[in-house]
Amino acid sequence: MAENKTQTAEPVDEKKKTSKKKKRTNPNPINIYRKWCKACGICIQLCPQDVFDTDIDGYPIVARPFECTQCSICWLHCPDFAITSTEK
Ligand code: SF4
Ligand code: SF4
Repeated sequence: MAENKTQTAEPVDEKKKTSKKKKRTNPNPINIYRKWCKACGICIQLCPQDVFDTDIDGYPIVARPFECTQCSICWLHCPDFAITSTEK
């Protein structure tokens, strides 16, 4: 007699499936050298994690540091080399 395999399968733990993303803890993942920054906004527009906000003068500020994935897009595209990573 054939065995019913669907009844022996382990139940899927939904919490384990969704907890793979590593929580970031660095409060200063990147530095913005304000003297070199011209507030062009490129980094703000390109950041896939929406890490930046602007200050009252339109300069970028790191508003959501724990969202930064160190993807490098911001510092590679800054025309004035004003962004550096603290981790790379
Ligand atoms: S891309 Fe560079 S120059 Fe432009 S706003 Fe960002 S840090 Fe400033
Ligand atoms: S490294 Fe990537 S995720 Fe982090 S601030 Fe720059 S563009 Fe955003």
